[in-house]
Amino acid sequence: MKKFSAEKIFTGKEILTNSVVITNDTGKILSIESIENHEQTTVQIFDGAICPGFVNAHCHLELSYMRNRIERGTGLVQFVKNLLIIRNEELDVVLDEIEIANQEMIRNGIIAVGDISNDDHSLLTKQQSKIYYHTFVEAYGFKPENSFEYFNATKKVFLKARELNLSASITPHAPYSVPTELMKLIYGWKENHPEIFSIHNQETEAETQFFLNGTGDFKILIDDFFKLNSLEVFHPTGKRSIDYLLEFLPKEKNALFVHNTFTTSDELKKTAEDFPNLFWCACPKANLYIENRLPDYNNWLLVNNRICIGTDSLASNDSLSILEEMKTIQSYFPDIKTETLIGWATINGAKLLEIENQFGSFEIGKQPGINLITDLNEDNSFSKNSAVRKII
Ligand SMILES: [Zn+2]
Repeated sequence: MKKFSAEKIFTGKEILTNSVVITNDTGKILSIESIENHEQTTVQIFDGAICPGFVNAHCHLELSYMRNRIERGTGLVQFVKNLLIIRNEELDVVLDEIEIANQEMIRNGIIAVGDISNDDHSLLTKQQSKIYYHTFVEAYGFKPENSFEYFNATKKVFLKARELNLSASITPHAPYSVPTELMKLIYGWKENHPEIFSIHNQETEAETQFFLNGTGDFKILIDDFFKLNSLEVFHPTGKRSIDYLLEFLPKEKNALFVHNTFTTSDELKKTAEDFPNLFWCACPKANLYIENRLPDYNNWLLVNNRICIGTDSLASNDSLSILEEMKTIQSYFPDIKTETLIGWATINGAKLLEIENQFGSFEIGKQPGINLITDLNEDNSFSKNSAVRKII
């Protein structure tokens, strides 16, 4: 039996003081009690705050070798071009960097990850990791008539993941890269385990423009970079891109919209009511890296229980640390409290991935991991020096 305490205990749902978290030797929570009933010498008391292990709701492990290789602040379309140009690294390097990134997340107190795969490179690392991974296998492609091909390529990666006993689901990449025909194949697929989805949404204003009238950076990407005719492969809907996604999204399944930088507060309000199982992922450091712009997270508070935090990949981030993402959010939105952010970083992500019976909060019977956060300010806000260490 082990006993842990700290000045503050963030349970994932509330803050406790003068309390002790009691676990068995492997970290399963046996009880949470008042510290008064325990001999001080039997309790490990930490300087700082303790909280459950973090859930990284959005990552692309397979892109880890791109750390420090892509220019910042170019906007999404140029970023995608730059990424595709260097997506040809030696497999040894790709695999090594995946493992290094996996270890980095373990050190940073991350216990579960919603990780995107476009190929099978990261699957073995995920299978052998101490971290729980759900693999979102993305389907995408621009030519509507090739939808079956795109879907079959995705299915191959999905089946490999399932062979390795990984939790996995097939999911659309983004509104601009998934034609109607492919959307139907994705949502018609019933082998997902569990049936949850993750979609890049409104990361750039160009996405809206493309859907409204077929012009802008995405037209240039498709015509000049992919050498396709955007007028042939894409028909603007005259509506905003989020409407296209919502047309297909099953309301009863958990889904994650990632980025949402250009989602309006009206869209958020309406979608929050109509789609009660839709979660919203904040990836602030990636947004600053790519577009140098952040969503207005104050608007998001109306879906507070469905906000998750993701690091995105090392192609658009210099670290895989949920703590650093929380610090970034709070530095721009100082009214968002640490306990609110901890909820986003723990229990909300666990709910999205349907692992909340095991992870996400200090509750009896769970084995959620325990992180120590040091150097919080007196009012519990993060300081520049706040750091995280995995205790168990
Ligand atoms: Zn992403």
